[in-house]
Amino acid sequence: MSLTIGVTGGIGSGKSTVARAFAAHGIDWIDADDVAREIVAPGEPALDDIVAHFGDGVLTADGRLDRRALRGIVFADECERHWLESVTHPRIRERIVEHLSRMAATDSPYHLLVSPLLFESDQHRLVDRRLVIDLPQTLQIQRTVDRDGGDEAQARAIVAAQMPREERLARADDVIDNSGNADALVRRVARLDQFYRGLASTS
Ligand code: ADP
Repeated sequence: MSLTIGVTGGIGSGKSTVARAFAAHGIDWIDADDVAREIVAPGEPALDDIVAHFGDGVLTADGRLDRRALRGIVFADECERHWLESVTHPRIRERIVEHLSRMAATDSPYHLLVSPLLFESDQHRLVDRRLVIDLPQTLQIQRTVDRDGGDEAQARAIVAAQMPREERLARADDVIDNSGNADALVRRVARLDQFYRGLASTS
């Protein structure tokens, strides 16, 4: 039996940082954001659908999806965001299932699906436990702006469009409080790694 842990949290909560900390313990992971990029690569049917809907303005000069331009549209218009999700989410989910079945065959004692939309796009059904990374919204926005270089209004709009903190926490099996420093995070991940190894050995 293989054990899959779904890792989620809002933008800037620390999902990638947590994934790297688990990777230091030898744990394999896939990132749903990478899969989301895969399914809109040139030649993929989702990209054709997006360009047919929004026009060439969402393409870069070399024919790739201009994610920044697309974000600008969909985080300003909820209807367009829902349309985009209806086109991309089923394809992302399908591709995640393929990746997870490949990972189940590796030596990693358990593995992670890291996804900002674990609950919103039904990916939580693909995992055995849900690990939520939590921190106060002000810190979340500050870390996002520091990392991405600047636009606080867009960071706020993205946070507002995501699942509320309380709802995410209510659906968690495990929680990482990431309001502390990087060392505290590494220690918390080490404890969880021991816990998940124990579960994996009995599952
Ligand atoms: P996500 O993948 O959830 O969007 P990241 O892992 O990229 O979030 O973290 C957002 C930013 O916050 C990054 O610049 C990261 O280095 C920083 N960060 C994450 N955890 C901590 C922490 N405990 N203390 C300080 N900075 C942190």
